[in-house]
Amino acid sequence: MNIYSAIVDGAKILKNKYILNPFLDSEILLAEALNKNRKYILLNPLKKIHKEDLIKFENLIKKRSNREPIAQIINKKFFWNSEFYVTNDTLIPRPDTELIVEYALKLTKYKNKLRVLDIGIGSGCILLSILKSKKDFYGTGIDVNKNCINITRKNAVKLEVNSRLKLVKSDVDKFFQGKYDLVVSNPPYIKRYLIRNLEKEVAIFEPRIALDGGLDGLSEIRKVINKTSELIKKNGKFILEIGYDQKNKVIKLLKKEGFYINSTLKDLAKNDRCIVCTKI
Ligand code: GLN
Repeated sequence: MNIYSAIVDGAKILKNKYILNPFLDSEILLAEALNKNRKYILLNPLKKIHKEDLIKFENLIKKRSNREPIAQIINKKFFWNSEFYVTNDTLIPRPDTELIVEYALKLTKYKNKLRVLDIGIGSGCILLSILKSKKDFYGTGIDVNKNCINITRKNAVKLEVNSRLKLVKSDVDKFFQGKYDLVVSNPPYIKRYLIRNLEKEVAIFEPRIALDGGLDGLSEIRKVINKTSELIKKNGKFILEIGYDQKNKVIKLLKKEGFYINSTLKDLAKNDRCIVCTKI
């Protein structure tokens, strides 16, 4: 069997299972099975595949057929400027969340030595992307899941920002350390009863704790806002990711805690996705 026919066979299996991008996924999984990049796969279509590698590939295709996300199968996801190590403990970094990084960098373009806090750090994608661009910023990340702390640490070493990063395993409401110039967070904000309606990739395979915002979707957002209000410096900036229908309610909560709303940002699908505000 050569590379090209393996990709076609894999894509057929995925297509029959209604996977959205069967050909692309098949290519990525074959590259993974062969321990090569996609460029190699595309440049060597007629190369023969060893039996063991083919078996590896078939197993990966089986996983994807069961709707396991590609990022979890290959333990990698590209976000902003870097590739992040991810597992089923971390929410898979999403392009929509790059909005937070984009705005954080815009707002701090002429700033030095800021202290940045990321509440619910997951894979570290938001905070580490900021630290990688801003070489004299210091980061603190908290997460309730110890595995996320370890995963972020590993990513920080890879991105060479580890010396400027402090990580604490903590619940948001039990964390009391420091004062910050900038706070970022992508908390869980899906209404609990709606999680099962999300696509299987998310509902079954992604960490529930990173999605579940309680009955009204706002229970973690409330905690994050209260904690940020406590730990942010006067005039500090706060960038928060929210659900597409939560803008008005979240703005109310923010105003009550003494934040001035600078702007709300729309994601690629034109949904309200982030709120940028300032502590007054
Ligand atoms: N944006 C994610 C989704 O589409 C949810 C992430 C979150 O709850 N923070 O499922």
